[in-house]
Amino acid sequence: MADSKDYYEILGVPRDADTDTIRRAFRRKAATLHPDVNKAPDAEEKFKEVNEAYAVLSDEQKRANYDRYGTPDGPAGFGGGYGDVSDIFGGGGFGIDDIFDTFFGGGGRGGQSARRARTRGRDMGIRLTVSLEEAAAGATKTLRYDRLATCETCGGSGTADGGGVKTCPRCHGSGRVVEVRRTVLGQMQTESECPQCHGTGQVVDKPCPDCHGEGRRRVHEEVQVNVPAGVSSGWTTTLGGKGEAGLRGDATGDLVVSVEVEQHERFERRGDDLYCRVTVDALAAIVGTTVSVRGILDGETVAVPIPAGCQFGQEVRVERRGMPHMGRIGRGDLVALVEVTVPTDLTQKQLLEVAGIVAERSLDGDAPADASDDVKAGGASTGKDEAAEHFAGEGWVPKNPFKDAGRKKPTRGTGRSNKGRRR
Ligand SMILES: [Zn+2]
Ligand SMILES: [Zn+2]
Repeated sequence: MADSKDYYEILGVPRDADTDTIRRAFRRKAATLHPDVNKAPDAEEKFKEVNEAYAVLSDEQKRANYDRYGTPDGPAGFGGGYGDVSDIFGGGGFGIDDIFDTFFGGGGRGGQSARRARTRGRDMGIRLTVSLEEAAAGATKTLRYDRLATCETCGGSGTADGGGVKTCPRCHGSGRVVEVRRTVLGQMQTESECPQCHGTGQVVDKPCPDCHGEGRRRVHEEVQVNVPAGVSSGWTTTLGGKGEAGLRGDATGDLVVSVEVEQHERFERRGDDLYCRVTVDALAAIVGTTVSVRGILDGETVAVPIPAGCQFGQEVRVERRGMPHMGRIGRGDLVALVEVTVPTDLTQKQLLEVAGIVAERSLDGDAPADASDDVKAGGASTGKDEAAEHFAGEGWVPKNPFKDAGRKKPTRGTGRSNKGRRR
């Protein structure tokens, strides 16, 4: 079965490709097929194929054999390319599992050993939380995290002075050891990670004392991240080369920063619109008023015009005072949800005036039900004098005299029959 595979086709390289091209093609393929990232059912099988192809094509002798005889093992189909017989017989710990794994796409052993062979640094992910104010204005944030960075002592080589990196003598640099043997079922091929170099294809003869030959060390990293104005949760940015450093100078991964915008105590964000609550005195709601709201941008004050006859729960929209649109001009709206509160701090004089209005409305005859509904507990029918008596009798003291609204007499009907008058 191994004979029918075209290793060049598997790696997607021409037959005259040099070792560099082959290595790059292998890394590209392996990266997309790695069981860690690719969950397709046949990914593991393809990953193994790619590894196998690379194991052969990256080795001069095996490649020559393969080119000439269609098998990496030379004319006899067995042993031709190997200098070390332990690769074939038990030295690497072959067992029946490995054989089944190879033939039947077994349970992840291949993936596990391949993971250790990875030499390129991993991409790292980190979450960055910003406040809604920061999201609105844009921000430069400092992120602190730990990562494996290139070892400064050895410059990433992994070797101490006078030391060097050699191609692993056991696997000849492929990181994999392949065994092919003939059985009654035909030719069987098994492959596993090279035990001497742990799949990297290289060994260090005098390791750097600071990184123990890895060429990378754990460091505390600090990076600046620019968060654009108008950013939403889930937005990501990639900082090239700020992920995990590769083994002994191999490529460094990226840092992917994912932004999370915090909930705000006053604003609820819907798209780029900001919703908030404003409290309006019932008398002010009758005649209309303006409420000031602290905006989302620093120092911003938004004037919310409350129309006359504004109802509880009514939404008042102020255009272009919400979140800035990310990457373009303009802003969403600020939407104020009006909560009407009944004042309890009217002066006695003001109360009498209100009571007078209530009494007047109840006597009009055209809307008696309306008036009596509006004021509970004997307010409507008692009239001005009774109201005065009532409040005086309880020793009621005004807290914060309500100014202008009491004197303005609203036109009739504004208290109730204004459902169509919003905005
Ligand atoms: Zn080092
Ligand atoms: Zn090796």
